[in-house]
Amino acid sequence: MPLTRFLIRHVHWPLMEQWKGNRIRTYLRELEQAQSLPVSQLQASQEQKLKQLLRHAADRVPAYRAYREELASEEEMASALLRRIPSLSKRRFNENPEAYLAQDIHPSSLIPNRTGGSTGEPTRFYLDRPTVEHYEAARWLGLSWYGIGIGDPCVMIWGSPLELNQRQAFTFRVKERLLKNRLLLSAYDLSEAELPQILKRIRSFQPHYLYGYASALHLFAEMMLRRGLTLGIPLKAVVSTAEILHPYQRETIARALDAPVVNEYGARDGGMIAYQCREGRMHIFSENCYLEVVDPVSRQPVPPGESGLLLVTDLHNYAMPRLRYELGDVVQLSTEPCPCGIQYPVLAHIDGREDDMFLSLRGHYVHGHYFNHLVRGMEGFRTFQIIQHEPDRLTLKLVKYPEKYSPAEEEQLITGIRQALGDAIRLDVQHVDEIPPSASGKFRYAIRQFSLPSP
Ligand SMILES: [Zn+2]
Repeated sequence: MPLTRFLIRHVHWPLMEQWKGNRIRTYLRELEQAQSLPVSQLQASQEQKLKQLLRHAADRVPAYRAYREELASEEEMASALLRRIPSLSKRRFNENPEAYLAQDIHPSSLIPNRTGGSTGEPTRFYLDRPTVEHYEAARWLGLSWYGIGIGDPCVMIWGSPLELNQRQAFTFRVKERLLKNRLLLSAYDLSEAELPQILKRIRSFQPHYLYGYASALHLFAEMMLRRGLTLGIPLKAVVSTAEILHPYQRETIARALDAPVVNEYGARDGGMIAYQCREGRMHIFSENCYLEVVDPVSRQPVPPGESGLLLVTDLHNYAMPRLRYELGDVVQLSTEPCPCGIQYPVLAHIDGREDDMFLSLRGHYVHGHYFNHLVRGMEGFRTFQIIQHEPDRLTLKLVKYPEKYSPAEEEQLITGIRQALGDAIRLDVQHVDEIPPSASGKFRYAIRQFSLPSP
């Protein structure tokens, strides 16, 4: 759609900038310039932004007024001052969200947002326009590493059907097509029989890239491989977002679509955090956020290369600052530079969600990936989901490949689970035909439903 792209770039965006004061392209240029600055300059810039934010929070945000003295020091580094404030869990934030709204903020400048509550705590919060635009700019910067620009045609393979009535759906699709140059498909609505037709639609749209949830892209890629079909047009990238991208998913997607598979790491309540470069490393947008990694129980900092709970401080959200916000993800930082030349720091590993971590009867943590590894090594299961309701009570849902399934293999799986979690667990095994994604469209293999012990 070269005409649509032209109109978006040369008419729609300039108009948005003039009429609405949209600054995404300005922020994008800033982020672009910053990516080649020496590391020391990047750190200084982040430190300065953080200092300004802390001052604002202490002066104008009721929840942080009590820390005014801690945050006041002119001499100390902002990053050191920040550590004097306790981290902010979703639960604590939800007890009194209004306390995090900056005073004197005009309601018209607030953009409401929320996270789904299918698992964990649903959270409602506000952003301001500069924050949202900084997220967008960061995404465009990440995409630019693959030669993708604003207005380039994109096919989105989504996880959940859109919950819109017919009229809304029509308006939505027209907007998607004309203002974003995007075609939306839901992976869970696709049947294998329809696949050739869908591929034809994608081909005629000529996307430069595909974009979607890891599980949805994987489902789509698997269907293509099973039917022996190819897309037949070159893609600059397939961008996976919103979920952990597992190595087996990456491999299947790359094989089916013959394009680089790119991981985007962000969250509704944490912003656009990191993007994968051509060398395969995740670069943190340190001009937009300040990250810390702490022990999940003691909340003490852990060194780079060790896994811990991620704390995010958004550097631009002056409307509703959330300092050291516990996003619920377990990650590792790195101090290694990346050979690609981008100077933004590297996120060494994204382990998964904190509520993917199971608790064994011996009191050890077992990461959800453990179960994934177990099942992936077996022949007979298409997919699975394991839910830990209480430390000793679990449900295991299995979708079989009927032709390959064997009870002995299932026994082996159950033994593996007992070895990790304890022999005394009660495990309810259910054979199901399908495991639908959660209401948000995300698919989760491992879900823990109770809180970990507090420090
Ligand atoms: Zn890199």
